[in-house]
Amino acid sequence: MSHPGFLLTEPFEITTSSGTPFKVFTPFAKAVQANLLDSPPAPAAAPRITPADVDVEAFSNWATETEPFWAADTLARHCEPGEDAALRRLEAFLSKGAYDNDTLGAGSTSGLSPHLRFGEVSPATVWAAAVEHPHTAGFLRQLIWRDFAWHRYFHVEDLETRNVREQFDQFEWAWTPRAAPGSTKHAFANPDMEPDAVHLEHLTAWQRGETGVLLVDAGMRELWATGTMHNRARMVVGSWLTKNLGIHWRHGEEWFWDTLVDADVASNPFNWQWVAGSGDDAAPYFRIFNPVLQQEKFDPDASYVTRWVPEVHTPLYPEPMVDIKESRKTALAAYEDMRSGL
Ligand SMILES: Cc1cc2nc3c(=O)[nH]c(=O)nc-3n(C[C@H](O)[C@H](O)[C@H](O)COP(=O)(O)OP(=O)(O)OC[C@H]3O[C@@H](n4cnc5c(N)ncnc54)[C@H](O)[C@@H]3O)c2cc1C
Repeated sequence: MSHPGFLLTEPFEITTSSGTPFKVFTPFAKAVQANLLDSPPAPAAAPRITPADVDVEAFSNWATETEPFWAADTLARHCEPGEDAALRRLEAFLSKGAYDNDTLGAGSTSGLSPHLRFGEVSPATVWAAAVEHPHTAGFLRQLIWRDFAWHRYFHVEDLETRNVREQFDQFEWAWTPRAAPGSTKHAFANPDMEPDAVHLEHLTAWQRGETGVLLVDAGMRELWATGTMHNRARMVVGSWLTKNLGIHWRHGEEWFWDTLVDADVASNPFNWQWVAGSGDDAAPYFRIFNPVLQQEKFDPDASYVTRWVPEVHTPLYPEPMVDIKESRKTALAAYEDMRSGL
């Protein structure tokens, strides 16, 4: 069953001129905007929910059943849930009069993703408020990316497990499936597999922010500490995992799913496949972010990285676990092997 209000445009409402789902963002964005001009978004009527419909017990138990349990402390400090908080955040963002989703640590994005994720504010409300402001063109475009992720998810239901571009089924990403739920607390102890210890070691260092690659570590620590991560850092840590470390994007998707406050069934796998190159309208695989150059460009005063990696200039901070240039070459060679069917 579908309840309009979670997206700007229902995924089945728009198609290409030949009646097929969109796979490319730019024409999709045009179609969404035309649709919005036809019927300007308006906040939907409140659903008829009575207190009796809400499972109060489930709400009070969720924190104790969730692992890892950082919700009570960290989450509460970094994220204020609720509809009122969502509207306050929207207002604060719009009154700032600036939007920049590239500069790390600038705080110039809306921070609305958890609120949108949990339906605390509808994208229609956000759109209607933002469209009045001159600085919001880039922001509105990002809001359409959210619709695009859902459009693709609607048409590719197993987006979180299947390479959209099947060619990537031949790619030799390192991958160890999780053990069956409940069999162990440690996700990768599957007894039927012979886990490749190196990639699991690399994966753990990536998750903990201990790779020795400054921007990657800063992003991963921000995620653990706050439940969120700047979009630029998400792209860089994703590129590092899937390309320089050669680890399957599904490991990244699963970690983000477990740790992001805005973890979303469509946006998360969609963006992981975008970063890895296996998705629709994705960044090409050979576009491998250099984390050092990215940091110089988007965190020129190093305020973001030193906030999260304060020990950077001490002997405590490790050397990069793999060489940036060498691992890039290895990744490109693996890509060529896949393309030539080796
Ligand atoms: C590997 C990876 C995984 C991601 N996983 C998620 C996820 O699970 N949930 C999620 O909401 N976003 C995800 N994103 C997209 C993006 O990073 C976040 O939406 C954004 O950082 C949230 O911050 P904001 O609210 O300040 O965004 P703003 O820049 O203020 O953008 C406004 C809104 O647009 C939407 N949006 C922005 N960028 C994207 C995008 N690339 N794809 C889809 N929607 C977008 C979000 O709802 C966001 O709140 C992911 C990106 C990457 C690269």
